This record gives sequence, structure tokens and C-alpha cells, in this order.
Amino acid sequence: DSLVSALASPEERDAEASVRPKRLAEFVAQERVREQLEVLLHSALRRGSPPDHILFSGSPGLGKTTLAMIVAAELGGALRMTSGPAIERSGDLAAVLTSLQQGDVLFIDEIHRIAKPAEELLYSAMEDFRVDVMVGKGPGATAIPLDVEPFTLVGATTRAGLLTGPMRDRFGFVGHLEFYSAPELAALLQRSARILGVAATKEGIAEIAGRSRGTPRIANRLLRRVRDYAELRSDGVVNVSSARAALKVYDVDDLGLDRLDKAVLVSLVELFGGGPVGLSTLAVAVGEQPDTVEEVVEPFLVRAGLLARTPRGRVATAAAWRHLGKKPPNGTFG
Ligand code: ADP
Repeated sequence: DSLVSALASPEERDAEASVRPKRLAEFVAQERVREQLEVLLHSALRRGSPPDHILFSGSPGLGKTTLAMIVAAELGGALRMTSGPAIERSGDLAAVLTSLQQGDVLFIDEIHRIAKPAEELLYSAMEDFRVDVMVGKGPGATAIPLDVEPFTLVGATTRAGLLTGPMRDRFGFVGHLEFYSAPELAALLQRSARILGVAATKEGIAEIAGRSRGTPRIANRLLRRVRDYAELRSDGVVNVSSARAALKVYDVDDLGLDRLDKAVLVSLVELFGGGPVGLSTLAVAVGEQPDTVEEVVEPFLVRAGLLARTPRGRVATAAAWRHLGKKPPNGTFG
């Protein structure tokens, strides 16, 4: 439930919808993916046939769902949304596929988590626009072939490496979303502030952008929290002082670390002299499960250049020491 988690709570979905770009031209940054998509979609429109199936990969909160919606909007097709874990039986998927209309876009989030039988059904739908639906059980079971209207599948995955080869091969277009730079997030936040009707200074926006961990979802969330704070405690303007004060209240530091991230670094430096220390020892020191430390905390600390995973254990980098206001000992990594 951290303010800097890249995952959205169900309640947050509504707040997100209001600032979600609806067309490709409004989608901020990711120039490469955007340009490639534009060519793909517009040439399909010109030909009057659906484009190749599209896969978006990248960490949570970088814009995969948004792009899926944009694909449908640009193509003028209806969007059907589901997710890998929601498709439990292949029959569920067959029902969705056979109800699609020509030109529809089917979005499957977390497509790497789709069950095997459903995945195989999806192959034939993607490739030949048909599915074999099994009727009956045992020796009497028969496969009834059903046509599927020409559609475009948009898959999203946070773990492209977990997709099976045959699945990956069936996507004619793969767009990989990268983390956003601070100036890119600032541009994105300017747009959000305008839509939300929030008065914000350039410096205030930059202050939020720098703490948003390269992730639009986090940037938009921090903007909403700073706005709340500014409305309650001052004149409602998002500027450097309201941003700093609000993010202090919410325990988000100037690199975007929250309380737990910070606790991990502080233990590493103060209890273990900067490491190396084993994951489980470190987890006990901060009162968390090793999985949480490894999957929730460490990826960002590593990406921010604050922590290194070495064969002998976790090590605080020189940047981590400095971030905590301490002088790194001689020979510190990084
Ligand atoms: P994902 O599906 O990758 O987890 P979303 O598409 O749901 O991420 O995006 C999370 C939030 O960030 C949404 O509110 C979305 O509007 C916003 N967002 C993501 N990417 C961009 C972008 N490039 N430009 C503007 N807003 C973005």
C-alpha cells in the first residue's frame, strides 16, 4: 500500500481514468514505440484490415493498458478487456473470441499467466481466426470448428521472458516500454495538472517528477496527493514548498524512496557496515519477508544504483551511503 507502489488499487482506477491519454498523439514520451505503432495502425487503416497482433511489455504503471485502449481508439474498434489469470478455462476464452466483431481489439493483460489449454486455443484464433471448441467428454468428445471475426489481440506483460516461444512468435509487433526520465515525467505531469485543473509551477512539477521512480502511475498519484495537501494547507498551488512538505508527510524522500526502501538501506549501512549481507538476514532486520524485500524493494534500489546484489550478498553502494548523509568507506562499491 505504499504511495510509491507501481501497482494500482481498484479505487485508484477511476482517478487514473480522468488523465489517461485517449489518442496516440497525447501519449507522452516512448517515441520509438509511439512512432512504430503509428505506422502499424495507420497502414492497417489504409488497407482496411486489422493490424498484426500487438504485445506490450514493461514494468507496471508504464502505460500498457493505456496503449491498448489507444490502439482500439485509433482503429475505431471496440475494446474487450480481460486478463491471463481471469481466463481459467479455455471455454471462457472461446466464448469471448467467438463473440468478437470484425475490427474489435481484445486486450489480455498479464498474458504470461494464461492457462496452457487457453493459450493453445488462442494460437489458432490469432493465426487462422478460428477455434476448435470441444463438445462432450472422453472418447465421444468432438471438436467443433468455429470462425472468429478478424480482430487484433493486444497482450500486455510485465515479464516478457515468461512468455512461451510460440506465443511470442504470434505477435507481429512487440513494443517494449522503458522507464521515463524526469523531464518526460514532468511533461506528463504538466498535462495531468492541466486536465485536473491544478495550478502548478514548473519547479513544483519537477520536484514530483524526480521522486516518481520513472513511472507515470506513481507520478500521477503523487501529484494528486500534493494537490490534496496544497488545497488543505495552503493556497492549492503545487510548488516546491507544497510538494516537499506533502511528500515529507507521506514519507517519500527526494529519490522517491518510501519508509521500507529507506529502512533496507539504513539497516544495510548501519547494522551491516554496508554489507555484503544475505537476503534473509537483511529481511529479518527490517521485519519483512525475504520475498517482499527481493521483489518489492530491491528492484528499484538496484535500478537507482543504491544497492548491488553480489554473489556474497547485498551491498550498499557509495551512492547509498551518500544518500543517507554518510561518507562511504574507502573501497565502497560504485
Ligand atoms: P500499465 O498498464 O502499464 O500498468 P497504465 O496504462 O494503466 O499502466 O498507466 C498507468 C497510469 O499512467 C494511467 O493513469 C495512465 O494514464 C498514465 N500513463 C501511462 N503512460 C502514460 C503516457 N505515456 N502519457 C500519459 N499518461 C500515461
